Amino acid sequence: MKFDFSSRVPQTKDDVVGEILKVAGDPKIISFAGGLPAPELFPVKELKKAAARVFKRNGRDALQYTGSIGNPELRKMIAKHMNKNKHINPDIENICVTTGSEQTIDLTAKMLIDRGDVVLVEKPTYLCALDVFKSYGAKVVGVEMDEDGMKMDDLEEKLKQHPNTKLIYTIPNFQNPTGRTMTEDRRRSLADLAAKYHVMVLEDDPYGEIRFSGTPVPPVKYYDKDGYVIYMNTFSKILAPGMRLGWVIADKDFIKTFVVMKQSADLHSDNLSQYIVAEYMKKNDLDAHVKTISDEYGKRASLMLKEIDEQFPEGVRHSNPEGGMFVWVEIPGNVNTMDLFYKCVEHNVAFVPGEPFYPDEVVPGTFRLNYSNMKDDQIHEGIKRMADAISEMMNK
Ligand code: PMP
Repeated sequence: MKFDFSSRVPQTKDDVVGEILKVAGDPKIISFAGGLPAPELFPVKELKKAAARVFKRNGRDALQYTGSIGNPELRKMIAKHMNKNKHINPDIENICVTTGSEQTIDLTAKMLIDRGDVVLVEKPTYLCALDVFKSYGAKVVGVEMDEDGMKMDDLEEKLKQHPNTKLIYTIPNFQNPTGRTMTEDRRRSLADLAAKYHVMVLEDDPYGEIRFSGTPVPPVKYYDKDGYVIYMNTFSKILAPGMRLGWVIADKDFIKTFVVMKQSADLHSDNLSQYIVAEYMKKNDLDAHVKTISDEYGKRASLMLKEIDEQFPEGVRHSNPEGGMFVWVEIPGNVNTMDLFYKCVEHNVAFVPGEPFYPDEVVPGTFRLNYSNMKDDQIHEGIKRMADAISEMMNK
């Protein structure tokens, strides 16, 4: 049946990413396409114990409705965590618990974007965020980036060109899809430019704590003096994505309106999960757990980079992530990576082509590889299969 959907529903022909993930889901394929954390590292035992304590002591409260802003104990634990790991000091009134970062992106866009407003994003960027911004009628404009993150001269240029810019969206740490990290200087400049041009920044930081090399850099929010930066994070990568919990930190007046919008979206995030995570954070060392994850991902990343360096043809370039879950690869010669994707599928290996990550012009020959959910033998064999497919494409 043909439905008369609203203009918010994407009008595009096909679900390219859905198609890629479906093909990549075939069990004989080694898939670097996903973006899943390693499930063997989920703290199942500890969460089970935390859940048992919650059911024993607070079962009825945890199964009841709760306030939209989130469980006060969890917000206290988040404030402590942010203070220790990110050097920012939110009051609990600055924090709202969300149903994952995906919801924070959605509600923030709903709050700030009117049809035709401009959203500036890194080029390339997280493809689901692009879909959200577009669904609210934004004109999404890409800002150049390099190994040091979003380029501030191009950002200022774009801010001048588009006076109706409503939001700058950035993933400063181990960006999805490139794995790149924004330098401290640029973070400071970004906060300054936001204040100068009166534009809000949405800082998306799901990977920031999963650092396996280099030195941590404070978030853009750290440099924000006037409340232009909305900082968001999630338990998806540091604990378990199935619990669907994240948080947003912003000016108290922003949070008040955010809570009103959240009320009509889902009333509140899963109350039981909130109790369990708060209990887990009280009794367990979350930072030690994150260190275990980071160490393991670090090993997987270095193996993947070593295999790429050894097996991919001459002239291939890749990012050097210091954390997170992704490597970005660029192969020379204007290769269409959708074609390369199907060639790789013939070799039983998959990845995500660059195309869906670009807000405007696509840079050919680019693609994203995930290492967080890959065992050593899969990395070795998968990169070998990709190298064969790339050679075939390049020598065609
Ligand atoms: N932002 C980015 C950059 C992500 O990569 C992801 C998840 N892949 C999200 C947001 C959504 O995360 P959550 O599970 O918290 O909704």
